[in-house]
Amino acid sequence: MSEPYPNLFKPLDLGFTSLENRVMMGSMHTGLEDTRDGFEKLADFYAERARGGVRLIVTGGISPNLRGQLVPFSSRLSSPWQVHKHRRLTSAVHDAGSRICMQILHAGRYAMHPLALAPSAIRSPISPFKPRAMSSGQIERTINAYVNAAVLAQKAGYDGVEIMGSEGYLINQFICRRTNRRDDDWGGSFDNRIRFATEIVARTRQAVGAHWIIIYRLSMLDLLDDGSSWDEVVLLAQAIEAAGATLINTGIGWHEVRIPTIAAMVPRAAFTWVTARLRPSVSVPLITSNRINTPQQIEQILAAGDADMVSMARPFLADPTFVEKAKQNRSSRINTCIACNQGCLDRVFRKQLATCLVNPRACHETELIIRQTRIPKKIIVVGLGPAGMAFASVAAERGHVVIAYDAAGIGGQLNLAVKIPGKGEFEETLRYFRHAMEDAGVDLRLGQSLSARQIRSTETDAVVIATGVSPQMPAIDGIEHDKVVSYVDVISGRVVIGNCVAIIGAGGIGFDVATLLAEQGWPQDPQGWLQAWGIDAQYRGRGGLLERPQRIETARKIYLLQRKPSKPGATLGKTTGWIHRSSLRNAGVEMLSGVKYERIDDQGLHIVHEGKSCVLDVDHVVICAGQIPNRHLADELADSGMLVYLIGGADKAVELDAERAIRQGVELAAKI
Ligand code: NAP
Ligand code: SF4
Repeated sequence: MSEPYPNLFKPLDLGFTSLENRVMMGSMHTGLEDTRDGFEKLADFYAERARGGVRLIVTGGISPNLRGQLVPFSSRLSSPWQVHKHRRLTSAVHDAGSRICMQILHAGRYAMHPLALAPSAIRSPISPFKPRAMSSGQIERTINAYVNAAVLAQKAGYDGVEIMGSEGYLINQFICRRTNRRDDDWGGSFDNRIRFATEIVARTRQAVGAHWIIIYRLSMLDLLDDGSSWDEVVLLAQAIEAAGATLINTGIGWHEVRIPTIAAMVPRAAFTWVTARLRPSVSVPLITSNRINTPQQIEQILAAGDADMVSMARPFLADPTFVEKAKQNRSSRINTCIACNQGCLDRVFRKQLATCLVNPRACHETELIIRQTRIPKKIIVVGLGPAGMAFASVAAERGHVVIAYDAAGIGGQLNLAVKIPGKGEFEETLRYFRHAMEDAGVDLRLGQSLSARQIRSTETDAVVIATGVSPQMPAIDGIEHDKVVSYVDVISGRVVIGNCVAIIGAGGIGFDVATLLAEQGWPQDPQGWLQAWGIDAQYRGRGGLLERPQRIETARKIYLLQRKPSKPGATLGKTTGWIHRSSLRNAGVEMLSGVKYERIDDQGLHIVHEGKSCVLDVDHVVICAGQIPNRHLADELADSGMLVYLIGGADKAVELDAERAIRQGVELAAKI
């Protein structure tokens, strides 16, 4: 059989060494870096990915000194005694036949502590701490700290370093005149502003020798007013190459920028054009990144000549065996990252360990272990939403005999999620579980419901109830009115919604429904998407921004309402909530907090807002006011004496999401 992805599996010659394939696991902070026994767990985490075929891994950011730490007590490599724990990582990865580079990251003004330093004393919008402007002595010492960190990394057995020069961290802060207002040798002219970056690369190269990997992550598109111009990006890349970098990786957008760059609503591979644009100007191999999550996409990028290599981080949380499955032509079995950020980045921002919505084992490799069972059981599963599918596939993989029923088909609420603009990636989760259940030998009985009586009369060792949730209908006068519909009616397309609509409930589902109703005029193609977010694909101005971003108002009048006085969407994910709010605001959706619902009648929805009564003259009122568990079956089996487990929404509907459902399913399957 011919090679399924010839470009992906073409070795990359770096002169002094060669990489077996064109995929890099990019840097991603997991939280394990900063915990007590974290490096041991990290070693298992990276080793599992290395065994899965990724041949070049970059660690999460490690600070070269105390002041560069992103948060107090985060990981740094500045003294010889710290080398030892890094050796665990490097040997684990080497034993699995791969290479690993350490990312050196100095936070600069993004540091969340009072010792923050930056080229100029300008506070960033994402840290409460105003940094001090560095003295020239501090600049010299910081460059030495980068070099020292690289030398120590070499002693720890790393195969190279990635010098983090993008995303708005310290080096990037020197490069942009917006954050560098110095008038000495390190500021002012472009040559002076890039000196910090080139000195770090050149002195590191001198210290580590010619045959060691130096990746430089270069901000190719700042997406920031007064960011770098395209000509400056090109000159910087050439200077970095001349200073001795082995590879240049693509950085897109500063962290403080309010334009999505990796979230699910970003079209796949939306930024590879930037890497492609730089390619003719340098000879060093270029790595591209952002929203790339399938082998097909990687192959396309490489075949088109847009980059020499592709970096992905989150897709390796979702599936450590991504590369191996691609190589074996089993891409349909990859557990695809859906770019939700829910299990990974949102957790890291809440100072929790990262994991993955679709793979709860991620970063928990040493605790959540899937072993073959020694005592196979016969298990009935009722309900094949995320919790039921996750349970059934893992339990069957372990050797249990699993018979799974669903009155409809597989997927449960995921079938609604896929219909929301920007959430189409859930199709991949459905595809993954369909195959996972089939491959594991789950006996699927779709379109069949099962009564408590039938279950009682069946010989089985355990019953797993994963019957999900139903919409909760609030007690509002007139809730039976024809205008009232549930979110299920709207998302499934069962009702045609009028031009003026009120949504009761501004939680995750309220936002989803508003997005669905508002986005019907929004561009879905990548070019249109870039334009809608104010990105100039011609790169005419500084930072790659359009002079005047497009405003795309929806033709519908939409009210999104909640009773709480807090800002709508406060419970949405930390890294994506602002995107949802900003998209809806841009579309003209009116979001009201502190609302009291009076009644619904032919006139519309009567509310009290800011102490005044008013009527929203709407065609429809969509109820998105939470859910209640579907527990009838479980209740009927309660006194049966059978071993009954409740998982997912049937167990607890409040704050239910796919992450909790899948985790609960896998955890139960691992121990049953
Ligand atoms: P939710 O996020 O808890 O929101 C329920 C909404 O209904 C709240 O805005 C609440 O606001 C309102 N509400 C609750 N009881 C009400 C009542 N009796 N009368 C009127 N309003 C009432 O639940 P959800 O939207 O159903 O979402 C379910 C889960 O799915 C959530 O945990 C969410 O994390 C997840 N999800 C997340 C996303 C996302 O992050 N993008 C998308 C979809 C789903 P007030 O009480 O203030 O009125
Ligand atoms: Fe991808 Fe979501 Fe998993 Fe993060 S949690 S790795 S974004 S699927």
